[in-house]
Formats: sequence, structure tokens, C-alpha cells
Amino acid sequence: MKDKLNKIEEVALQEAAGAVSEIELQQIRARYLGKKGEITAVMKGMGQLSAEERPLVGALANQVKDRLEEAFAKRQVALRKELMHQKLATERIDVTLPGRRQMPGSKHPITQVTEEIVEIFAALGFGVAEGPEIEKDFYNFEALNIPRDHPARDMQDTFYVSEDIVLRTHTSPVQIRTMLKHQPPVRVVAPGTVYRRDSDLTHSPMFHQIEGFLVDKKVTFGDLKGILTTFVNQCFGKNIDVRFRPSFFPFTEPSAEVDIQCVICGGSGCRVCSQTGWLEILGSGMIDPEVFKSVDYDPEVYSGFAFGMGIERIAMLKYGVNDLRLFFENDMRFLRQF
Ligand SMILES: [Zn+2]
Repeated sequence: MKDKLNKIEEVALQEAAGAVSEIELQQIRARYLGKKGEITAVMKGMGQLSAEERPLVGALANQVKDRLEEAFAKRQVALRKELMHQKLATERIDVTLPGRRQMPGSKHPITQVTEEIVEIFAALGFGVAEGPEIEKDFYNFEALNIPRDHPARDMQDTFYVSEDIVLRTHTSPVQIRTMLKHQPPVRVVAPGTVYRRDSDLTHSPMFHQIEGFLVDKKVTFGDLKGILTTFVNQCFGKNIDVRFRPSFFPFTEPSAEVDIQCVICGGSGCRVCSQTGWLEILGSGMIDPEVFKSVDYDPEVYSGFAFGMGIERIAMLKYGVNDLRLFFENDMRFLRQF
């Protein structure tokens, strides 16, 4: 009996040491120490032993049982440790891997230039006004003294939504809307998107303008020149030459185009300025009394000037961009430069 117990212990210890998983270890334990296990069977069979042998074998069986319990427990701890090491090795996070780079966005060059222009005029006391892009014929044309037969109304230039509704062809309707709402003095710039049926290297069916106007008592052409010269110097540099050239717009009288010394060649003549040394950047003029009449301002009391420019054109000249379409193609290689 004693030998049998020792033999069982020896085999059980070997099997426990060889167990590779906790489940396997539990199965081995059940085989020896469970209700139907070998040690249990020995203990149950002790009734057949003599009264002298019984306590000796009983004591030995208990010792073997205790030693096995201890061995199984130790093996279990060891197996858990091994499993943990294995997990740590295979599921390790490599903290030295380079992180995923964030791609920070930035403002579109047209937005940047718009904000820059607005800021210059804000410093000169101008507020900002906005208006709808889908506009009534009255605000887009009629109130601006653009008669029915004016070429600007031609179907080739204007997108008509209906007979009386257009996609605004310029930001000037904001001028009318503002003057109808406010009595002079007014001093406002109106940036925004405008639409014309036109598309080539220098024209896009959708583009941006900024309109500005100032109305008060005794406003003169000298004020117009002063404000616009200040703007040009702030936008393109202090030493740039400016000239005012007579022109015609239906809503201003007299009217003037504003040219700046070519920023590409410095005035000596190049392809961009068609060898003239000058670049046209602004349209301007004294607001026509007819416009004042349509917004109920008294032309005998008030005078004012208005101006407008294409924001893409300013951006092209500032950044030396030679194709207008680049601004709208959303090519990251282009946009990242701003
Ligand atoms: Zn030039």
C-alpha cells in the first residue's frame, strides 16, 4: 500500500510538471485527487487494512495528498506566469513607432486675401455687409442704373433663375440693400461670391468680388483717391505707383479704373501687363445721382463713391498665380503653398 502511494505520487508529480495549460493541470488533478481519483480510491479502500496498518497508510495518504495539492498549486502559478509572459511578448505595443501625422487645415487663399482686404478697409472705418447670392433683378440691375438694354444684362453674361431672379453678377446689390436700410453716413465693404457665364484662363463662372462704398455730405473724388491709394499701398506695398484712368460704369459718374504699377515687372513691361507696365485692379467712381434716387437719398445733400474689385485678380497678382482655375481645383499641392 505504501509503495503504491509513493508510486502514485511520483507519477502525479511528473504529469503535473509536464502540464502545458491550466486546463490540462486541472484534468490531472482530478485524476488523482478528485472524487473518483486514485488517492481517493486508496483512502476508500483502507477499510480492508488491519487496525495496525490503517493509521500509518492513512497518515501517508494525507501527506501525499497535501504534497500533491501543493505541487498542483505551484504548477498553476507557474503556468499563469508563463501565459502572462507569452501575452506580453506577443501583444506588446511598440511605443517607438512614429505617430500618425495630423494634417492641419488652412484657409483657402481666396479667403485669406478677402480677409486681408476687409481688414485694410476696417482700419479705415468701413463696416462689412453681406447679401444674398440669388438676387432680384431690381437690386442687381435696375436700382444700379443698368437699363434693360445694357450689355451686362445679356443672356451670355447673366445666369437667370427666372425672368426676375438672377444669380448676382456683382456684389453691388449689397450697396442698394444697405442704402435702403441705412441713412447716411454709410461706409461699408461687401465681399461675396458672384456668377457670370464666362470661363477661360482669367474668367470663372463663379468668382469673388469685394464692393465698397462711402456716402456722406461733401464726399469728393479726392476722398475716393485718398482711400483707394491707401488701400493699394497697404495691399501691394508703400512704393507702388497708382493711376486713375477715366472709365464708364452705369452706376457711377464720373468713373475711373484704378491701375497699379505692374507687380511682376515693376513697370518695365512684361507679358502679364501686356508690356504696358500697368495692371488694372479696381473699378470706381462717384455714385450716380440716379442710384441715390432709387434708394431715396437726396443727391442734393449727399454724395459718395463706390469701388469694386475681383478678389481672384488681387490674389493672382499678390501670389504670382497665372491661371485663375487653380483657385477652384482644390489641388492640395497648390493649396498647401498658402
Ligand atoms: Zn509687367
